[in-house]
Amino acid sequence: MLIAECLYFLRNSMIYHEAIVVGGGLAGLRAAIELNRNNVRVAIISKVHPIRSHSVAAQGGINASLGNHPRGLYDNWEKHAFDTVKGSDYLADQDAVIRMTKEAAERIYEMEHWGCPFSRTSEGKIAQRPFGGAGFPRTCYAADKTGHALLHTLYQQIIKFKQAAERKEITIYEEWLVTDLVVEDGICVGVIALDIVSGRLEAFQSGAVIFATGGAGRIYGRSTNALINTGMGMAIPYWTGVPLKDMEFIQFHPTTLLGKNILITEGCRGEGGYLLNNKGERFLEKYNDSKKDMEVAPRDIISRNIMYEIMAGGGFDNSYVHLDLTHLGEEKIAKRLPGIRDASMEFVGVDPVTAPIPIQPGQHYTMGGIDCNTECETSIKGFYAAGEAACVSVHGANRLGGNSLLDTIVFGAIAGSNAARYVQDLESRKGESASYDALKRAEQRVDVLCKSEGNEVPVDIKVALNRVMDNKVGIFREASKLKDALHEVKVLQERYKRIKLNYAGKRVNLGLVWALELKGSLDVAEAVIAGALAREESRGSHFRTDFPKRDDTGLLKHTLAYFTPEGVKLGYKPVNIGTFKPKERKY
Ligand SMILES: Cc1cc2nc3c(=O)[nH]c(=O)nc-3n(C[C@H](O)[C@H](O)[C@H](O)COP(=O)(O)OP(=O)(O)OC[C@H]3O[C@@H](n4cnc5c(N)ncnc54)[C@H](O)[C@@H]3O)c2cc1C
Repeated sequence: MLIAECLYFLRNSMIYHEAIVVGGGLAGLRAAIELNRNNVRVAIISKVHPIRSHSVAAQGGINASLGNHPRGLYDNWEKHAFDTVKGSDYLADQDAVIRMTKEAAERIYEMEHWGCPFSRTSEGKIAQRPFGGAGFPRTCYAADKTGHALLHTLYQQIIKFKQAAERKEITIYEEWLVTDLVVEDGICVGVIALDIVSGRLEAFQSGAVIFATGGAGRIYGRSTNALINTGMGMAIPYWTGVPLKDMEFIQFHPTTLLGKNILITEGCRGEGGYLLNNKGERFLEKYNDSKKDMEVAPRDIISRNIMYEIMAGGGFDNSYVHLDLTHLGEEKIAKRLPGIRDASMEFVGVDPVTAPIPIQPGQHYTMGGIDCNTECETSIKGFYAAGEAACVSVHGANRLGGNSLLDTIVFGAIAGSNAARYVQDLESRKGESASYDALKRAEQRVDVLCKSEGNEVPVDIKVALNRVMDNKVGIFREASKLKDALHEVKVLQERYKRIKLNYAGKRVNLGLVWALELKGSLDVAEAVIAGALAREESRGSHFRTDFPKRDDTGLLKHTLAYFTPEGVKLGYKPVNIGTFKPKERKY
């Protein structure tokens, strides 16, 4: 070690944890619990208080083949696996899907035993509602606030484990933004993070790092996602050499509140809500791919059919349709969908008990993410990914509603358990030099940003990015628009180099935080567009008007996006097909 480094580490208390989890949402908290159960000293780093993570906003429910629905039909994990693979338009890796659907029931009962207040059947079992693309009502829920119930349950467990004398501690760093992943000789040795309050950058050394940093929805403007879902958590490993997988697959949810894009859960349709055009018709029956399952067909299909209906003149003001719940009655709405009623009354002045809700599709979920395998391992040793930030892949080209919450707790636990085993087998701690260098580089980067005398306003670049993504990389895609979008994002990346912050101080400089994250959003958006342009077929959520058919001969494969300073480079890898052979998808 150089003298400068030694002096540095003498002056600054080095932060060390056996394992670090970045992200305080469901995937991150579940991973941390598993590490702690394995007696690993773990730290959670989150840029917001954990229960402000986007997981808290999840509404409709979480899937598991418990078979509790009073209809008395028989459900099992194989049926759940088949529905998931079919929903994914056969792009999901079937070994991963089997792992998730097999472990689902155990994870749900664990949550129940930890105190999650699930809604109940009259017999006291966990209630399950029908959801899109599922052959059976298998979505467990806590009214329309399932994410809230799950996340608070996990956070309470964290508090409990934190205080348990017999275990090693769990440390939580709230309001710290991770900016870099530190890698030495191909092995992950920690992260660099900015303490948002003091403005200080620190090197965190660790045997293993798990990224559970959530989705990238906010590269779009019309999105149901929290503003914190910038995609930076995907960009960090991407910059460090880990590819992003299947980024072109962006889910558009059919029902978001007109103009605001607040989510109106699929649970509304699961409970029996209708989609109506301006003639009051349930128009989904006009479309071949949704005429059987109607309102509970999968999201990609319903979103497209809403848009077709609007384009054919069946919408209101050429921009929205109605979601009608009035026939469900006040009691059911109050019991099962109270949050939806509140949001609808609050934001568009419509009480769904008496009038239909105006809705339009909006960006909702990032199917792609950090490339990892079923064990949540990435191409960098000691670096794991889980939750929406990761692409295992269980959702393929289109995620089924209720499967994402399941993904977070199943793969959160898997990531935690594998990381625990990995750190316990590690012989020696290393990485001082790499941490020092990475910290110096990060400090320099932040200094340059704070002192920059450029003429570009970061928020203008963000708004321009959102507009490009909304207008050119939406539900319907075509080569010319995608090429324009790619060009425009490259221009924005150039403009980014000339940004100037309003305030150059270090303490609570949210302008600095947003500016750092904006770089991540731009690079992740580039990966989305490049993948979409290269994928000359239509599969799941990715619909190319110039290539409307699925191409299993040439494109039944995962896209890998690699970062290079000149821009994104694409590669591919095979899909793990198992017993479910690709067929045409109809509902
Ligand atoms: C409105 C809405 C409703 C939904 N409803 C459902 C549903 O009913 N069923 C379902 O299955 N799915 C649903 N989803 C999807 C599901 O909620 C999410 O995919 C899931 O909760 C993501 O969990 P996560 O733990 O991966 O990430 P998140 O909950 O998004 O957490 C990400 C965490 O990472 C932290 N973080 C990110 N970057 C950094 C950084 N650089 N440094 C430090 N910390 C960082 C954040 O602070 C946060 O704690 C819904 C999504 C939305 C938006």
